[in-house]
Amino acid sequence: MRSASDEQNPQRANTPGGRSTSERQRWAREPLVLIIEDEAAIAELIRYNLQKSGYRCQVVHDGEEALLAVEEQTPDLILLDWMLPELSGIEICRRLRARVETRNLPIIMVTARGEEQDLLRGLREGADDYVRKPFSLNELIARVDAALRRTRISHQAHLLEVGDLLLDTEAVTVSRAGQRLHLAPTEFRLLQALMQSPGRVLSRDTLLSQVWGLDSDVEARTVDVHVRRLRQALNAGGQPDYVRTVRGVGYSVDAD
Ligand code: CA
Repeated sequence: MRSASDEQNPQRANTPGGRSTSERQRWAREPLVLIIEDEAAIAELIRYNLQKSGYRCQVVHDGEEALLAVEEQTPDLILLDWMLPELSGIEICRRLRARVETRNLPIIMVTARGEEQDLLRGLREGADDYVRKPFSLNELIARVDAALRRTRISHQAHLLEVGDLLLDTEAVTVSRAGQRLHLAPTEFRLLQALMQSPGRVLSRDTLLSQVWGLDSDVEARTVDVHVRRLRQALNAGGQPDYVRTVRGVGYSVDAD
């Protein structure tokens, strides 16, 4: 359901699509597609159809806006119009590839240019795929589906998931129920160690060697201090506590 204000303000229209197919339900949440397109009518058309297919969408109209949007929330896929005012698609692609959070993000370029040289240049700059304008919406959605399926497979190796908690070891990010959490490096490594074997109790010694390294002379109770900080960061929104303290033994993380 879109409201009139969404129409006028595509930036705010970042609401869940609601309808998921079984393919998309396998994601922890509906994938977020960032649409970078300066022609409002085309952007709207793409957004409407992707949302109908169960994607969340964010629309931006130029490169500067795109880079800000990515900084705020890393999307799962980017649809990048090649002909943009100011920053060109190719330049945006280059900058996105230079960032850790978007280095491996699928980017599909949407281009009116049919020239093979342009397409090759786009692919060389890091685009994963392209769709030629005028495009068929079914083809566009099929390509988005396929690109996300591919990343989902390669993603799994570095995505750790417990309940609504998602840790990305590659992007070094943690989110809970889709909201980005900000953890200090030690808390991040601690959570990663715990999430690597959910339900398993890790002793303080195991955590010390995994998080601080075997040679560290950190005391066991330092682990407790950092677990406390980790808990505070994870449960700031008043959610259930996934960190379990096993007295005299250590800690584990699980969603039950
Ligand atoms: Ca354009």
